[in-house]
Amino acid sequence: MPAAEPSLAPPSAAADPARRVLSEVFGYGEFRGLQQPIVEHTIAGGDSLVLMPTGGGKSLCYQIPAIVRHRADQGVAVVVSPLIALMHDQVGALEEAGVHAAFLNSTLESGDATRIEREMMGGRLVLLYAAPERIATPRMLAQLDSLHERGLLSMFAIDEAHCVSQWGHDFREDYLKLSVLAERYPGVPRIALTATADDLTRADIVERLALHDARIFVSSFDRPNIRYAVVEKDKAREQMLAFLRAEHEGDAGIVYCQTRKKVDETAAWLIEQGISALPYHAGLDAPVRQRHQDRFLREEGIVMVATIAFGMGIDKPDVRFVAHLDLPKNIEGYYQETGRAGRDGLPADAWMAYGLADVVNQRRMIDESPAGDEFKRNQRGKLAALLALAEAHDCRRVRLLSYFGEASVPCGPLQNACDNCRRPPATWNATEASRMALSCVYRIEQQSGHHFGAAHLIDVLRGKPTDKVAQHGHARLSTFGIGAATSEAQWRTVFRQLVALGHLASEGEYGTLQLTPSSRLVLRGEITLLLREASEPTPRARGGRGKRGAAAGGTGAGKAAPRPLDAAGLERFAALKAWRASVAKAHNLPAYVVFHDATLAEMAEARPGSLDELAGIGGVGAKKLDAYGEDILRVLAET
Ligand code: ADP
Ligand code: ZN
Repeated sequence: MPAAEPSLAPPSAAADPARRVLSEVFGYGEFRGLQQPIVEHTIAGGDSLVLMPTGGGKSLCYQIPAIVRHRADQGVAVVVSPLIALMHDQVGALEEAGVHAAFLNSTLESGDATRIEREMMGGRLVLLYAAPERIATPRMLAQLDSLHERGLLSMFAIDEAHCVSQWGHDFREDYLKLSVLAERYPGVPRIALTATADDLTRADIVERLALHDARIFVSSFDRPNIRYAVVEKDKAREQMLAFLRAEHEGDAGIVYCQTRKKVDETAAWLIEQGISALPYHAGLDAPVRQRHQDRFLREEGIVMVATIAFGMGIDKPDVRFVAHLDLPKNIEGYYQETGRAGRDGLPADAWMAYGLADVVNQRRMIDESPAGDEFKRNQRGKLAALLALAEAHDCRRVRLLSYFGEASVPCGPLQNACDNCRRPPATWNATEASRMALSCVYRIEQQSGHHFGAAHLIDVLRGKPTDKVAQHGHARLSTFGIGAATSEAQWRTVFRQLVALGHLASEGEYGTLQLTPSSRLVLRGEITLLLREASEPTPRARGGRGKRGAAAGGTGAGKAAPRPLDAAGLERFAALKAWRASVAKAHNLPAYVVFHDATLAEMAEARPGSLDELAGIGGVGAKKLDAYGEDILRVLAET
């Protein structure tokens, strides 16, 4: 391998081992964001805690120091990761890049485990991935001791470090045992990484992993290549299908639903519509779940329909959209789930359909949960913040980031990066209509002591003589028919927003509505309500764009996203993908481990004619150039 180095690294890089590894092994020209200081700090032996969003490039933060330290005869880096199902692919990706790596977990045959342990104990491995429950076993600790005594324990990386925190829902008991690493191997640098940003989790990680002297690297949590959109729920499935057809034909994506039943139904329905969809939820047998996950990772263009049971650690880089058919629990959940889109830095969509029933549902789940009052209050507060995001008229990105304590500026109309910036929503002064709605609730309660859901209240306001109206004598109310001039759709948005803003409270299975303390302020005219107008019943044509191919900048820094390819370019791209599929199959790895789409697209566009030119493409390192260069040039020459 060293023989190939000088011709591949830019001359200025020769002096800097980290940069050299970046370009020679991984084929990238520039570090992203805080990668460089993190890498340098770790190589120099410091501890660190790295907070970086999904897709920010956390892996290189420990892989590059591991390689550099290994080359300096410092032995093996141990990576703790809870994601056993993904270790195989992570290790496969490293081996593809020419880095000697392996994993130890419960899925291995004992013969394989013995062989890997031998590689580790000889200090030949660069990276060893292990599950947390393995680390604190007497056997593993004895092995680490021996490596340490011989100066062959180069560093520890603790991935998904938020698993140590009881505050998050990913808590793992075994992570607590990792404090042993600090006690037992004080001189060995440790780097803990997570995409969970809140202060409580951060403090927990520092405390429980004994990272008091660690440097904390906090990246921006902006995901500039993700476009955010929230649409008013009408017929959510059809709305989503229209969105998929318009923007994501043939793309891989994730559709989140709240219940297992809805997952199954939605997946079946999408399949009927000709979409390659698969269901995933905790009610499916483990082998079925595993098979669906494998297919999602390995095949192209699969749409995974899932509950939130799916997704942690899914590092598939080319997920082009994440769609929510139901409201997530809170902004943390929304950010985490949507964050699975676009890890490769290319444009991706976070799309959500949202309506009154979602608000009612989420409220009810909190009310009915067996948790204590304080916990419920906390949950309600978090839901309110999410509702404010969903109802916002202004930049969604600014709202999202400000929730995590990060100041930012609106993405603006030209960036095409959030629905509200791209097309500021029409608003109307709904103060009067809101007063009508609330007084209707009030009159009915006075008359009968009962509460009703939005549908009936709307009938009363619009003066519709339904059976229910007749049955309860609601035509006699002073509010009967006072809102006839406003459409039903418009009234629905009024009620939804009143509930979202807390001026009405929903209750029980039917979501009956009642007044809240703040209703009074609205009734007295002390609050002015500017509300979003109801959108047209069918989804809007989204600006008449075709598929987005354009760069979104930011996350893809250092490597421009490919421009849309012309016809010949698309043909080359398709040929390269077919070639990649055959390699991936032969190696039993997902296609993106061989090369990312972005890399193939760049090849299709640039049409390199020699190995030297090919080496200049982002994502082509020395080992891959060596292994695949000639094949790629042939594929390009033949198309
Ligand atoms: P995370 O673990 O933070 O979600 P990854 O480590 O999986 O992110 O990186 C996300 C993607 O970005 C990967 O496909 C990786 O190859 C790519 N990437 C990381 N760093 C760079 C870089 N400096 N230049 C180009 N691509 C990068
Ligand atoms: Zn915006």
